[in-house]
Amino acid sequence: MTETPTYIGFEEYSEHVPASIPAAVQQATDRFVGGRAARVAELPQWEQLRQIGSDIRQHTIENMDVYLLQLEEKVIAAGGHVHWAETAADANQIVLQIAKEHHVRTAVKSKSMATEEIGLNHALEQAGIQAIETDLGEYIIQLAGTGPSHIIVPAVHLKKEEIAEIFSDKLAIDAPADPIELTRIAREVLREKFLNAEMGISGGNFLIAETGTLVMVTNEGNGRMCTTLPDLHVAVVGIDKVIPDWESLTVFLKLLARSATGQKLSTYTQFITGPRRAEGEFGPREFHLVLLDNGRSKVLQDPVGREVFKCIRCGACANVCPVYKNVGGFAYGWFISGPIGAILSPQMLGTQAARELPYASTLCGACADVCPVKIPIPTILRHLRRRVAEGDEFAAPTLPAPVRLTATLASFALAQNWIYRFGTKILPTLMSIFKRGDWIPGAPYPLSRWTRVRPLPPFSARFRQWWSRR
Ligand code: SF4
Repeated sequence: MTETPTYIGFEEYSEHVPASIPAAVQQATDRFVGGRAARVAELPQWEQLRQIGSDIRQHTIENMDVYLLQLEEKVIAAGGHVHWAETAADANQIVLQIAKEHHVRTAVKSKSMATEEIGLNHALEQAGIQAIETDLGEYIIQLAGTGPSHIIVPAVHLKKEEIAEIFSDKLAIDAPADPIELTRIAREVLREKFLNAEMGISGGNFLIAETGTLVMVTNEGNGRMCTTLPDLHVAVVGIDKVIPDWESLTVFLKLLARSATGQKLSTYTQFITGPRRAEGEFGPREFHLVLLDNGRSKVLQDPVGREVFKCIRCGACANVCPVYKNVGGFAYGWFISGPIGAILSPQMLGTQAARELPYASTLCGACADVCPVKIPIPTILRHLRRRVAEGDEFAAPTLPAPVRLTATLASFALAQNWIYRFGTKILPTLMSIFKRGDWIPGAPYPLSRWTRVRPLPPFSARFRQWWSRR
């Protein structure tokens, strides 16, 4: 079985992060924020659209089994094949098996977060199949040997000079630091790959249950080449991408492009319903849809956390996040970064494995304000902090037992008026034993863990007295 890249965590991250990340990321995200604001201002019904989008997603989450079965039936009726992958390893194995049956040596790939999630390139490479990313940003990071650092702009952390260096080094040419020239070079290299590949691999933005249609939203046209030139097309898509019908799609298309890139509509919106049906039609002769679970069913069991599946992967939350803008995408340790990564990864990987992520937020709420489908990100972050600290049905708590006991007692005491009043009366006397000047420099355990690194201010007055004095 092939090995799948996993979460690297904050400690390893510090060894990966180039110093140039904040400047490059801030410049790019500021541009997206401005573009989004301008497009949103043009639509007076924006808030209603957000609410409708959020409601459709909520309805789909609650009825996902029904829509997935409908989708499967329609894809098969259109001549496609449907595969269910419970884990990342299963999904990789399915794609490898299809590739083996068709004697594939080269595959061209359209941008896909799902294949980043399962580490498909790595699996293909191990099986001796060359997988080539054809989205410009993905192509750059593939040459650089890293993962994406932003949902929609995978190479956002790189400046044009750094990209020129990567091209010069990996393609053995003298590439100038000129975006137009760099794009021309990539296009020339990739054109030949498109024509020779035996298999096209894609993700998908939406899956329409009503007709079994895969929807791909792109800006470069490479997605169309990947899914029409080779005779074989395999799409790997998370089960959360299903939507009920075409009417729902009209809402999401309006929300997505405006929130992602500040466009009214992305340049290419592609609809794929099964393989080509007659000679002379565009499209592959064989179409396979791999429906990826990889922990999603588990997340669906949490009524608070599952709202994460409303996400349409626009990246707007990352663009406004003060934490993301300062640390960049690699800090989030997995294929998905920014506030959405902070609420998705701990749920999919487990609250022990990615326990730092719910804390990687100032809880300022900017992410929830811009989210086109109204995901309550700060609420989910707080919910996950509780799951990390207290443990859940999948992982043990991270807080030591004495601290949990103290927190439980404090929570009980603060909820009882008489205990609260009594406590505020005796605390100043108790604390005066340890007071030195205006501070408490050393307190007994467990507070000693705090005072080891900073002094504690003494309890000065009862809140109610203080309040009545003012
Ligand atoms: S959480 Fe909301 S803002 Fe962030 S990527 Fe998903 S849809 Fe966009």
